Amino acid sequence: MRCKKCNTDAVINMRHHRLALCGTHYDEWVLAQTDRAIEKYKMFTHDERILVAVSGGKDSLSLWDALLRLGYQADGLYIGLGINDPEPYSDVSLEKTRAFVASDVWRVPTTESDVTSPGTRHTPLLHVVDIEQTYGKTIPQIAREKARGQGRPCAACGLTKRYVMNRIAHDKGYAVLATGHNLDDEVAVLFQNTMRWQTGYLARQAPVLPASREGLTRKVKPFVRFYERETATYALVRGIDYIYDECPHAVGNLTNFYKTLLNQLETESPGSKLAYYLEFLRARSEGLFEKFNPTTELHDCEVCGQPTTAPGRCAFCRMWDVSALVQ
Ligand code: SF4
Ligand SMILES: [Zn+2]
Ligand SMILES: [Zn+2]
Repeated sequence: MRCKKCNTDAVINMRHHRLALCGTHYDEWVLAQTDRAIEKYKMFTHDERILVAVSGGKDSLSLWDALLRLGYQADGLYIGLGINDPEPYSDVSLEKTRAFVASDVWRVPTTESDVTSPGTRHTPLLHVVDIEQTYGKTIPQIAREKARGQGRPCAACGLTKRYVMNRIAHDKGYAVLATGHNLDDEVAVLFQNTMRWQTGYLARQAPVLPASREGLTRKVKPFVRFYERETATYALVRGIDYIYDECPHAVGNLTNFYKTLLNQLETESPGSKLAYYLEFLRARSEGLFEKFNPTTELHDCEVCGQPTTAPGRCAFCRMWDVSALVQ
């Protein structure tokens, strides 16, 4: 397969775009597409400070790299979950994240499309919040305690991550919180939501979620139009070293099952996932789900002050029994 632009060997063939590209032209294409998505969905501007939630995986590190190269003021937030059994997943993912910041990778311009020269590029900060050190227990420990040893720790983990991301973004004055969700992630969630017609979730599934009130931060997903394979190829082309393994608790979960089903569909009919997602966004922008968007009144948590739907302590403070813990 040859690059459509320069006829050298291609590193990727994107059947859904009928486009094969070499490393250099693929790199340029990813940057241009990322910038286009940021503008199209009005995610953020060059004057705003952005906090990227990083996990040490290909999507979040690639996103951070691309935002820095596009001249955005992007810092990182790593949340240490304490998931180190049976494999040291959290330890390795922190190691990869620190190595990315310390390395020269994000400084290296590989194409002429780098908007910034390395000398003027924002020097990123990495914020690390270790859950055990901050709140006294790891995610598996709190999940075992609260769910009496049943099931996966994902509910406890998701609640804690959302809370910490929002809190750090707000306390440190970031205008935006960016996550590395890719098209495969979004489409699997969309499938799950439509299978059960969870209209409230559908109303809130978007590349940009505005900050609905003081204390909350705008949330954006600039990589939402890239297939997982595309972000992996970007990481490869850029020489970004990331953690290959998934969290052990993700193995065999429902989202991965849907991803497998949707991959079969994509193989038979290239571009199905992208069309499914983009048509959903079109219907959404035409107001199809608007009436399902809850306009719940929010209260301030009586312990931590974060917005919460019910008066009293927020779900995070209740789960962690926070009344006087370090905030
Ligand atoms: S799979 Fe579950 S436990 Fe693992 S990081 Fe994701 S939400 Fe957390
Ligand atoms: Zn080329
Ligand atoms: Zn609270």
